[in-house]
Amino acid sequence: MMGAMTAAHLADLLSFLDASPSPYHAVATAASRMEQAEFHEVDERRPWPKEPGRYFVRRGGSLVAWAVGEPGPDLRFRIIGAHTDSPNLRLKPAPDTSGSGFRQLGVEVYGGALYNSWLDRDLGVSGRLTVRIGTDVVDVLVRVDDIGLRVPQLAVHLDREVNTKGLVLNPQVHLTPVWGLTPGEPGEFVALVADRASVPADAVISHDLMLHDLTPARVLGADREFIASARIDNLLSCHSGVASLLQVVEGGDLGDVVPLVCLFDHEEIGSTSAAGAGSSMLPTIIERIVGATGGDRETLAAALARSACASADGAHATHPNYSDRHDAKHHIALDGGPVIKYNANVRYATDGPSAAAFALACERADVAHQHFVMRSDMACGSTIGPTTAARLGVSTVDVGVAQLSMHSAREMCGSADPERFSRALAEFLMGD
Ligand code: ZN
Repeated sequence: MMGAMTAAHLADLLSFLDASPSPYHAVATAASRMEQAEFHEVDERRPWPKEPGRYFVRRGGSLVAWAVGEPGPDLRFRIIGAHTDSPNLRLKPAPDTSGSGFRQLGVEVYGGALYNSWLDRDLGVSGRLTVRIGTDVVDVLVRVDDIGLRVPQLAVHLDREVNTKGLVLNPQVHLTPVWGLTPGEPGEFVALVADRASVPADAVISHDLMLHDLTPARVLGADREFIASARIDNLLSCHSGVASLLQVVEGGDLGDVVPLVCLFDHEEIGSTSAAGAGSSMLPTIIERIVGATGGDRETLAAALARSACASADGAHATHPNYSDRHDAKHHIALDGGPVIKYNANVRYATDGPSAAAFALACERADVAHQHFVMRSDMACGSTIGPTTAARLGVSTVDVGVAQLSMHSAREMCGSADPERFSRALAEFLMGD
C-alpha cells in the first residue's frame, strides 16, 4: 500500500512531468512552484539582492534557486544539480517539407534518443518562439497538443527482416513526421504554432520547437509500483530537487548553509552551452551570492571548500530481459531506494567521501540506498556531476532514481522511489 505522502508526491510528480514537454516549460513549471513558496526571481542583468531571502535565476532552459539566511563564518553551499532536457526530435529552422503527397516537418535528433521509441506515437509540439512586439524582442512559450503529428513505422510486409535483423533508422529520412495531406506553404507550420500562441505569424523571428509524446504520465503495475512517462530522465530529479529545496526552506533557520538547486539545460548534448552545466552560470551565481553577504574572493574560496554537491540524474535499473548487461554484484531494483553511481574513470563524480555523505543523508531520511557500477567491459554514460565538480572544485556525488528504458520517448521507474529520493536530497541539502 502506498502511503499518503508518497501518493501526494507521486501525483505532484506526474503533473510536473506532463506540464514540462520542453526544457523551457520545465523551467516555467519549477519557477511557478518557486514563486508560490515566495522565491523571488533575480534578473542577472541587474544588481544582486543583498537581503537574506529565497531567490531564483532563469536562463533559457536552466534555472538556479537558492535560499540564504544570515550566514556566519562557516558559510557553505549544499547543491543539488539536475537537467531539464531530454532526447527528442527538434524542428529544423525551415521545417516545412513534403513527400508522396504528405505534409511533413524536417527534424533533427537532439541527444542520444532511442529512435524507434518515436515511431507510431501521437506527438505534440512545444518550445519557444522569439517574437518582435513593437520595439521589443521577447520569448513566448508555446505548446500545441491539438494538431497531432506522427512518425509512421514501415509495415512489416515491406521490411521482412525487421524482427530478425533489427530496425535501422536514418534520422534524415525515416524520422520525418507527417501532419497532413497535400503539401503546405513554406512557413505554414510555424505560422500555425504562432496562432496557437496568440502571436502574429509575421512577428516570429525564430523558434526553438520540439516534439513530445501526447500520452500523459501514469501509474501502472499489479500494485501500482511503476510510473510510465516521457522525460523521467531527468525531470524526475528536477522535481525531487525542487521539492527537497521547498521542504528545507520551510524547515526554518538555515544557519550557515545556502541550499541551492540548479536545473541545467543541454546535459544530453554534453553541457557545453551558455546555460549548461559546463558554463560559467553556476560559478557566477555562487560568486554573486557570496558577494551579496559581504564576502570577498577569500570568503568564496573557503565557502566552496566547505561545500558539497549531489548531481541527480537517472540510474539504470537491472533489466529483467537483459540482466547480462549489468554487473551481477550490483543489482539495481526499481523502488529499491536512491542509487549512488560510481565509475573508476570518473564519468560519475562519486568518490568514497562524497558517497558516504549521501549514504548518511539516506540514513537520516530512513531510506535504503543502492550502488550502481557498469560492467567493466561496457562504456559508462556520464552526467553533469563531473562537469559541476570540475567547474566548482566541490566534492560531488552522482545519484539518481533507478529506471528502465532510459532515453526512450516513454520511460519507466518505480512509484515509491521519487518521494524517498526527495527526502534523501532534503537531508543532503541540510547537511550534517
Ligand atoms: Zn539524464
